[in-house]
Amino acid sequence: MPNIVVVGAGVSGLTTALLLSKDPKYKVTIIAKYMPGDYDIEYTSPWAGANYLPFSTKEGSRWEKGTWPELVRLAKDVPEAGIHFQEALIYNRNKDAGGPVTDWFNDLLSTNPWFKDLVPNFRVLPKSMMVPGADSGTAFTSVCINTAVYLPYLVSQCLANGVVLKRAVITHISEAATFHHSGRKADVIVNCTGLLASKLGGVMDATVTPARGQIVVVRNTPGAMFTVSGVEGGEEGECCYIMQRAAGGGTVLGGTYQKGNWESQPDPNTALRIMKRAVEICPALVEKGQGVEGLSVVRHGVGLRPLRENGVRVEKEKIDGAWVVHNYGHGGYGYQTSYACSQGAMDLVDEVLSPKAKL
Ligand code: FAD
Repeated sequence: MPNIVVVGAGVSGLTTALLLSKDPKYKVTIIAKYMPGDYDIEYTSPWAGANYLPFSTKEGSRWEKGTWPELVRLAKDVPEAGIHFQEALIYNRNKDAGGPVTDWFNDLLSTNPWFKDLVPNFRVLPKSMMVPGADSGTAFTSVCINTAVYLPYLVSQCLANGVVLKRAVITHISEAATFHHSGRKADVIVNCTGLLASKLGGVMDATVTPARGQIVVVRNTPGAMFTVSGVEGGEEGECCYIMQRAAGGGTVLGGTYQKGNWESQPDPNTALRIMKRAVEICPALVEKGQGVEGLSVVRHGVGLRPLRENGVRVEKEKIDGAWVVHNYGHGGYGYQTSYACSQGAMDLVDEVLSPKAKL
């Protein structure tokens, strides 16, 4: 019976543990400093919107492509997962090309993206449907995940399959091997530590940095999800998006994408600009004639996207004699790549435990 310790209880750790636990031969323990229910700047997953807006190029699309069918299944057949379908409207301003926000989602702004045949109802929007300043736009049916429901849902699925969850803080990845609930050493450690892979002994990935996301959660309902390629004024890295979470999760107004910024506290001026821009592109958020005063704020928040220079790291590595499978560095796309990346991590666990690998 191979013993596996997964480090991390964000969307990456929980999804990987869930997939592993479906194979009865694996005995899985999850250890984490933060768990679903916690809100902390060192724990990204609760802060996400989260929706499905593919950012990858066609060549790098396998994680997003591979995750879409499972999100559709959950939205269709599993109401308790807290995921619903929503129309996504994407607006492009030509002047934003090559800017700090758009350089990571060029394909999303294209009127002919690789995913046009993957998602339902993809269409190019007519000029009459542009928001102020937009030169082109597209729309398709996407999903929006209520992370406050979805993360506990993943926990409950793991528990049902016999996964054991424990609080622990490690300073070196190899320490994780001693935390398996059997009392015996783990055969494989899965590293899903997100942004903190940059500070964890044995990993210390200097290419992982935060992309700071400030948000406002409101009770108002927009009726669709909106994303615009750029904004006027404000500070570098400010952007504009709206997404309505499933199951009473409120509406997330964003945001910022500030690379290298570790600031945990919401900035009140940025928050005001986020709210103003949201009402500008979606007046239906508030009553006729109202501005930001028509927004009913649930909370302000900041999450740090675990951005990795060369994209997600799904790799195996022997560290101090222990097999480690990495699954971290998901930037602003950890939910929309979660199933395929976790499947990739599971394939690597299978590989390192195969008799051939042991020879
Ligand atoms: P985390 O959620 O940060 O989890 C890391 C885990 O590792 C935690 O449990 C932590 O406690 C544990 N850990 C770390 N170090 C240690 C240690 N030394 N010892 C013990 N435990 C440790 N993605 C989308 O797909 N769609 C979206 O719409 C979207 N919107 C976003 C909006 C915002 C504002 C933000 C901030 C992010 C958004 N994302 C979105 C990105 C997504 O949230 C992340 O990619 C994802 O949550 C990363 O998950 P993770 O499990 O890798 O990391």
